[in-house]
Amino acid sequence: MIHKHDLIIVGAGLAGLRAAVETSQYADVGVISKLFPTRSHSGAAQGGIAAALGNEEHDKVEWHVFDSVKGSDYLGDQDAIEMMCGEAPDAIYELEHLGVPFSRTKEGKIAQRQFGGHTKEVIDENGNSKRIPVLRACYSADRTGHVILHTLYEQCVKRNVRFYAEYFILSLIIDDGVCKGLTAFNLRDGEIHTFHAKAVMFGTGGYGRAYRVTSNAYANSGDGVAIAFRAGIPLEDMEFVQFHPTGLYPLGILVTEGARGEGGYLVNNDGDRFMKNYAPTVMELAPRDMVTRSIQTEINEGRGINGGDFVNLDLTHLGAAKLKERLPEITGFAKTYAGIDPVKQPIPILPTAHYSMGGIPTDLYGHVLADEKGTIVKGFYAAGECACVSVHGANRLGTNSLLDAVVHGRRTGKTLVKYLREAEFSPLPDDAEKKDREMFANLYGTSSGENADKIRLRLKEEMTNKCGVFRNEKDLNSMLDTIHELEHKFKNVHLSCKGKVFNTELMEIIELGNLLEFSDAIVTGALARQECRGAHWRTDHPKRDDVNWLKHTIAFKTEKGIELKYKPVVINKYQPQERKY
Ligand SMILES: Cc1cc2nc3c(=O)[nH]c(=O)nc-3n(C[C@H](O)[C@H](O)[C@H](O)COP(=O)(O)OP(=O)(O)OC[C@H]3O[C@@H](n4cnc5c(N)ncnc54)[C@H](O)[C@@H]3O)c2cc1C
Repeated sequence: MIHKHDLIIVGAGLAGLRAAVETSQYADVGVISKLFPTRSHSGAAQGGIAAALGNEEHDKVEWHVFDSVKGSDYLGDQDAIEMMCGEAPDAIYELEHLGVPFSRTKEGKIAQRQFGGHTKEVIDENGNSKRIPVLRACYSADRTGHVILHTLYEQCVKRNVRFYAEYFILSLIIDDGVCKGLTAFNLRDGEIHTFHAKAVMFGTGGYGRAYRVTSNAYANSGDGVAIAFRAGIPLEDMEFVQFHPTGLYPLGILVTEGARGEGGYLVNNDGDRFMKNYAPTVMELAPRDMVTRSIQTEINEGRGINGGDFVNLDLTHLGAAKLKERLPEITGFAKTYAGIDPVKQPIPILPTAHYSMGGIPTDLYGHVLADEKGTIVKGFYAAGECACVSVHGANRLGTNSLLDAVVHGRRTGKTLVKYLREAEFSPLPDDAEKKDREMFANLYGTSSGENADKIRLRLKEEMTNKCGVFRNEKDLNSMLDTIHELEHKFKNVHLSCKGKVFNTELMEIIELGNLLEFSDAIVTGALARQECRGAHWRTDHPKRDDVNWLKHTIAFKTEKGIELKYKPVVINKYQPQERKY
């Protein structure tokens, strides 16, 4: 079956829905999501969304820009960061006017809390300038993503956006360098559909599911990133995967940074607030990459609780009332998943794969780029976590990614409104579904073969151990060998359930193919990058190397495997400095 819309947006998270709100007043918009829209991972975001509103204390956009540049370990493009932080206040007030129920200050303004790496400049008693934490993250208790997602969904329904919920996209249709649509299958009956559009936008989210310990939802299997890669689009900075310091032990379910923002302590087996040894000025509110490495170092050096692979996050001194008001979800998670009451006991935590800084390269307006020179792919756009603009560089600051999704969803929407005014439907190539039909026929035809679960578990286990918080050449080489071996096995994977209706085994096999596809790019980029920058930490090259590596990785899929090229970082006001907190 063929569906026709001016614009097809894939993804019903904040990026996709914000773009849908922007465009649907002017164009016929369809939104495809493999999940029911309000189950998108954006809804799991707890802590907040950054903007220098200055509601609780003096703040400036310029400080937000500086913090984001420094937080990115100087790999973020400064023009993109300036734009994101500059548009943040407007984007937040728009959300407020659309109906987002933010928490409030006593005066009724949007409330703001502290988050790692977000600072203000103060002059100390000796007349020296120093930076201390600032109240910048707008929030709605610890359900910030949830309330924004639901509000945007309501606004889309009001604007007659057509939703294709539980449709799983398979391939992009790029013909003569122009994106003309895509193919997807309906999970409800297993039928393949073609979507014909003047433009396609991806807001398909991140790829944390390549790791065993992760805060990400099952759906975060980087499908969009892998599908674009397969269609000949390069991927940018894939080696930069953020590990959040506080995943609930042992699964890695997120304990928001808001818990430290509200005053939580990290303590080791000796009862020591060990962050004093790593980031004495900002302590627990250092940026994520630093806190993560500090925790992992404590664990690796035997100071985990009872020698185990976790440390404690202590909130007991905050008191029951504050936990109930500010961190109700976390209190519930700790009770449900760890049997811990945070009012009385510390929460066991470990680093968890959390956020994908890399992704599909775009310019500031949401156009997808075909190469390191900045050539635009006509008709193809991306925003949110699947895209790399790059505003997060080597390490994202907490609360900057909901902001990225909203600001770039909105900006890409504005670009699309202009494009759609002029654009025409171009004819589809003959039998756009052929490859996908063959893939389905092959899978349904198997009577034996490799077990997908075994391939997936091995990939995730080894990615966590060999391409995680600390990396080195030997482990990364071994990881590449594993990926190539698993890719080989995957060609012979067996589909045991032959049903058509909600065949989740089929869906998981397709997701596994996607995990393998982009994991190769993560590891290849990580192996090449012989330095430490942000979330990418090479124990065998323990320094940042601006002379050789102050550049973005652009990975291309070729017949002979992955080929890496590089492009310069945009540096405007802030020259790279050593990153100390
Ligand atoms: C637990 C958790 C807490 C977080 N907390 C914060 C926070 O407090 N502040 C902050 O700034 N950031 C936070 N983040 C990060 C932030 O939530 C995400 O980066 C952001 O929400 C991503 O939005 P998105 O619109 O790009 O994608 P998502 O919200 O992940 O949505 C992706 C969409 O793509 C669709 N999709 C994917 N693949 C397919 C396919 N094959 N076919 C069809 N549809 C597909 C999905 O159905 C979904 O609708 C958190 C992340 C996690 C995991």
